Amino acid sequence: MNDVLEPARTQLGIPIYVNSGYRCPALNAVVGGAKRSYHLLGRAADLTTGSRADNRRLYDILRTLPHHELIWERGGLWIHVAW
Ligand SMILES: [Zn+2]
Repeated sequence: MNDVLEPARTQLGIPIYVNSGYRCPALNAVVGGAKRSYHLLGRAADLTTGSRADNRRLYDILRTLPHHELIWERGGLWIHVAW
């Protein structure tokens, strides 16, 4: 989190909303998460700024930060990042 989310927020300069972070196995199953999702380890977050334009800026920032997965979800409605 200190290596990804905080630097991303600082560089972006506006609030980032975390729609999903850690998921217990039961919740992960309900939302259709991958069986080996990083969310189960508390090492993933689904992020949005509230606008696709700012999500694009956030995505470009996240590309420069350490991550295992970076996914532009549903046409930019949110971004999945795992570290
Ligand atoms: Zn996710």
